[in-house]
Amino acid sequence: FNKLWGTDSINLLEQKNLIPPHGIKSPEIRFQHEYMNSINCSPDIFRCTLTKIPETKNLLQKSRLPLGILIHPFKDLTQLPVIQCSTIVRCRSCRTYINPYVYFVDSKRWKCNLCSRVNDLPEEFQYDPVTKTYGDPSRRPEVKSATIEFLAPADYMVRPPQAAVYLYLLDISSAAVDTGYLKQVCDTLLEQMDLIPGDSRAQIGFIAYDSFIHFFNLAESLNQPHEQVVCDIDDIFIPCPDNLLVSLTENRSIVRHLLTQLPTRYLESSDNISALGPALQAAQKLLAPIGGRITVFQCTLPTIGPGALTNRELNLKNASKELKNALNPSTDFYKKLALDCATQYIAVDLFFINNQYVDISSISCAAKFSGGCIYHFPNYHYTNNPAQSILFEQAFQRYITRKIGFEAVMRVRCSRGLSIHTFHGNFFVRSTDLLSLPNCNPDSGFGMQVSIDESLSDFQHVCFQAALLYTSSKGERRIRVHTLCLPVVGNVNDVLNGVDQQCVMGLVAKMAVDKSLDSGLNDAREAFINVVVDVLSAYSTTQNSLPNLALIASPLLKMFPLYTHSILRSNGFRSDLQVRLDDRVHFMNQMKTLPLSTLIQSIYPDLYPIHNVANTPLALDCDEEVPDFPLIHLCSSRIEAQGVYVMDKPELIVIYVCRSISKEFCQNVLNVENYANFNELSELPELDNPLSLRIRNFINNLQMLKPHFVSVRIFREDSRERMLFVRNLVEDRGESSSSYYEFLQQLKTMVH
Ligand SMILES: [Zn+2]
Repeated sequence: FNKLWGTDSINLLEQKNLIPPHGIKSPEIRFQHEYMNSINCSPDIFRCTLTKIPETKNLLQKSRLPLGILIHPFKDLTQLPVIQCSTIVRCRSCRTYINPYVYFVDSKRWKCNLCSRVNDLPEEFQYDPVTKTYGDPSRRPEVKSATIEFLAPADYMVRPPQAAVYLYLLDISSAAVDTGYLKQVCDTLLEQMDLIPGDSRAQIGFIAYDSFIHFFNLAESLNQPHEQVVCDIDDIFIPCPDNLLVSLTENRSIVRHLLTQLPTRYLESSDNISALGPALQAAQKLLAPIGGRITVFQCTLPTIGPGALTNRELNLKNASKELKNALNPSTDFYKKLALDCATQYIAVDLFFINNQYVDISSISCAAKFSGGCIYHFPNYHYTNNPAQSILFEQAFQRYITRKIGFEAVMRVRCSRGLSIHTFHGNFFVRSTDLLSLPNCNPDSGFGMQVSIDESLSDFQHVCFQAALLYTSSKGERRIRVHTLCLPVVGNVNDVLNGVDQQCVMGLVAKMAVDKSLDSGLNDAREAFINVVVDVLSAYSTTQNSLPNLALIASPLLKMFPLYTHSILRSNGFRSDLQVRLDDRVHFMNQMKTLPLSTLIQSIYPDLYPIHNVANTPLALDCDEEVPDFPLIHLCSSRIEAQGVYVMDKPELIVIYVCRSISKEFCQNVLNVENYANFNELSELPELDNPLSLRIRNFINNLQMLKPHFVSVRIFREDSRERMLFVRNLVEDRGESSSSYYEFLQQLKTMVH
């Protein structure tokens, strides 16, 4: 039987090296026709938990695996075919876009791969402008690429494409001003102003809030910004709507004036109240006619006006009931506001830069239901906590300069017989399969659960197609389409043999977040364990004879128990109350929206030993000399006293230097005589020797794979910073949690 799998089963209790040197990849999707293998959608964009779809619901149940898709629809791409045509070819029955998996009945007709209807091809589609001939529709880019973007004709607009509009909401309570964040926000905006996406119509505005709401008139004719304060926060109105939103190009000098003044403007204030709700209401009123993006910086718990909140963290005496309540919003104010915003094409993005509880679970609803995004910088202080202010700056720079789409909607279609039933991510569901995304950004991911309603046995393959319709920052209406095709199989071994363990983890994490909100953290933890036990049991039953002392996993699911163990120890799902409530809620929010690769890396960061640089071969596919360091387990037993380790996390790269490191490494890479002289670095010195060059190339390579630059921290094993490294060694036993090995022992008793 093992031959059928192509490789032996793994006894998890004995096999200590599960991680392949280059990490876990998505399993390849294989069809009988080589052509179909070569054109499928990239797994970075579109993935399914099962790369072989069971032909019946029954078969799916037998496999004990969840069926769902994860998508990163607006990911930054280096190559994207863009097409302009007068007619976009779509199925007349189900509205699917023509794609590489349709069947051409003849040169004038195509059969839809989602609903099987035969459609006529328009004349235009058959004409090849290059050779000026008719016929052979298969040469068209629409059927050559699984990812494509159309410039949409007028019938894809309900109104002229909106301008890019950016409105910043600034908490200026005294606690907020004390953190110094205003300086960092304003400086970054001043530096990056030319890179903010938009055309000549782009607009910008600012609202500040403490007990009152402060508006800024930015008319170019004024000598300096004119501040208007509204004190009636219970019934907010816009004092004088002109020149609150102004042209980013024409009013540039007065905008710069304001950004220069803001950091010091409220230094003397002792108002420590934050009227976030009224500020958001004002912002919504201001943007309602156009739509756009609201960016909120929140440092304190909002305690007055509509949307006021109370500190619920204080009440957490025992974990279960109080925690479940506190994970859920305490008011529907922010959700309602978000739904109103969504209908006006307004998204709300949130930066929490708090030192104390702000109730992220309530406030984050403003972003969750408006297609917004959420950032969290606990213990932020501009000068006292430089590590955190660097992370904030990196994230904010990326935020203001990355691509953005406005007034977007996304629809995901699937082959007849399948249906999509539960959505995960930040959006507003407009109809069963239409997601409203007032903004879309290139860093957000989405998940969908899928069920099999009818037998698929008549089909050799099924397809999913996601279409994202949006207005670009240049005022163009565009449609980005991704099509994923998967083979259908008829027996359970084939299903198990096509499982994508990372994708399963990503989907189960999203389902567990919902579970913890609906029925509590303990139930969510149990659900994780049940999935692992189910998966391992289902596999066991396919094995002929089982040694009693073994815990057997298929090679394709060997990492799944490890990921599960790690997520159970994360800030989101750990059982003890040592983690702050806002940190827990933020982790859960991230599980709902991070693209898969980032999600996996935040549960289980990549760890490489880099001290044997001279003896490490070079990676083959790089132009530079990049050492091919192998990945290792996150376990203190892998850490050697003479070693140096790189830990690659989504927001930070850590280099951890152990005490017996060679003098050679110290001198050639760290530029110090020996370990005793080494203190700490925030970048690798540029030394003129091959070891230094190779290590720097390696780090640069890791950074290139990220959507934005992330900083590097290099420190000793006895440094104050050591927890940045050590707490990610998640396979070790923790203060109140089992080691990975102990976890496996528990699983064994449950599987047998
Ligand atoms: Zn169709």
